[in-house]
Amino acid sequence: MDYRKHFRVEPGRRIRLAERDASDTGKHGSRKDADPEIQKYVQRMDELQYLLFADGNQSLLIVLQGLDAAGKDGTIRHLFTGMDPQGTLVASFKQPSKEELAHDFLWRAHLRAPSKGQVVIFNRSHYEDVLVVRVHNLVPQSVWSKRYALINDFENMLRRNGTHVLKFYLHISPEEQLKRFKKRLEDRSRQWKISESDYLERELWPKYAAAYEDVFAETSMDHAPWYIIPSNHKWFRNLAISQIIARTMDEIGLKLPPTHVDIADIRRRYHAAEDGERESS
Ligand code: AMP
Ligand code: MG
Repeated sequence: MDYRKHFRVEPGRRIRLAERDASDTGKHGSRKDADPEIQKYVQRMDELQYLLFADGNQSLLIVLQGLDAAGKDGTIRHLFTGMDPQGTLVASFKQPSKEELAHDFLWRAHLRAPSKGQVVIFNRSHYEDVLVVRVHNLVPQSVWSKRYALINDFENMLRRNGTHVLKFYLHISPEEQLKRFKKRLEDRSRQWKISESDYLERELWPKYAAAYEDVFAETSMDHAPWYIIPSNHKWFRNLAISQIIARTMDEIGLKLPPTHVDIADIRRRYHAAEDGERESS
């Protein structure tokens, strides 16, 4: 199944999150039966990241959004640990600092956008400025409502500069979120991740859903599409995202750069002795 077709939001299309099944697992019945495919796509992502880095002309920006416990951290851990740390960066966006607030809302995102050859993963992103900011009235509607167009211009500019942009919404159900919160409470190693505000934010679910639905309708572009990933099952989330990234990167047509030196000549001049030894042995 081509998850790019399946989960992509067509530009201008208005979807309703409540109508999307967060427990969807495509044709796969279990983690066990998806694991070999996940491994294959993750390995392909790693190979293509190497080519992107070697080529040094284009870059990839992956935006991860979702409510608390949707699995943003887990996605990063599972899918990107095999990439070369020299060419891969994760940028997490928290509440803006004083300095960040003193600039336009895209400033901090632009600062951390990938340079040529890099893969950058945004754990939350500039979209928080039309999500949490809207839900909590941190700026008036007259301000946030103009940000969709600014975001589109920003991403368009990145695209023209050689950056491929992919945006994933990790879609979980309210029931699954509560289950995950409870698990965090029960697991000493993960208690640090839970706070009272997680439960308070939960009460605002319908407002967040409405804000996300506007984000998808306003900012899913051919050059920077949104994908709504059913994420109640972590293994299916990993499968769908890794397939979408691997196939998108495959289509870029990355190649190893040409060599800048005469390989045969250098071998002859500097390695003749060893090569001769190997041939005679
Ligand atoms: P976490 O991702 O769980 O580490 O939490 C980061 C927190 O920062 C979340 O509650 C976000 O909603 C919040 N946050 C991120 N960006 C912004 C922003 N632009 N304005 C206000 N809060 C933000
Ligand atoms: Mg959190």
